[in-house]
Amino acid sequence: MKVIETDGIVLKTMDFKEKDSILTFLTREVGKRAGVLHGGKSVRSGNAAKAELFVLNHFEFSEKPNTELVRIRKCELMESYPSLRQNFSKFLNASYFSELLLQCEIPSVDSQDYFDLLKNTMSLLSEAQTGTEIKLNFEMRLLKLLGIPPNLDNCLQCGGELWEGESGRNPSPKFSVPYQLDANLGGIRCPKCCIRSPYSTSLHPGSLAFFRVRQKTLQSESVIRPTQNNLKELDQALYVYFRHFFGRNLKSHRILKDNSWKN
Ligand SMILES: [Zn+2]
Repeated sequence: MKVIETDGIVLKTMDFKEKDSILTFLTREVGKRAGVLHGGKSVRSGNAAKAELFVLNHFEFSEKPNTELVRIRKCELMESYPSLRQNFSKFLNASYFSELLLQCEIPSVDSQDYFDLLKNTMSLLSEAQTGTEIKLNFEMRLLKLLGIPPNLDNCLQCGGELWEGESGRNPSPKFSVPYQLDANLGGIRCPKCCIRSPYSTSLHPGSLAFFRVRQKTLQSESVIRPTQNNLKELDQALYVYFRHFFGRNLKSHRILKDNSWKN
């Protein structure tokens, strides 16, 4: 039996027996784990706040080989991020981040990177007015951690150029008509190579240029500010990208999308 002590962020909670909860959490040290938190459903136990979605706890748990659930021996609430559960839009964003991470294989050696990404994102989101750019930055960093950042250098179908004299910070797209992000190719189709396929989504030149800059800097303070249309196109394009990579729909995305682009 091995005892591990580490921070973890709760990605999923499930009722268990009368008063307990099964928590699935992303740890700083060892990837994801699931275990029973006794009294997770009981206010009197003092453990209910630690069994909420998206809270950061300090865990001590033990695990045995070939058992699915760890035994949580100690659990201490570190950060609760209440606004992530009180504000509907923030809740939808946080649920989407959690669902994405629930799909990822996270080896122990990469655990800290994933944990830091989630912790920073949750903390930014809990302070922010709107989550749209936070979501995009999260998705792009996650693609990088997964080793599948879209290739934006050339058309992956014909090898043709996408950019016209990429000087300075503002790349100018070579064509003025829509390109596509193709999840199956792992990058861009130039307008001449666009096809109808469930794996490819349209990106107008402005969205592609913004995407390029953001991918290079991966900071919210990049020179080009996104328009609503840029963010909306990239929302769909990156969703299709993740869906292809994981081979399944993410149910939290649909409701997030319906809520984000009402107008
Ligand atoms: Zn092409």
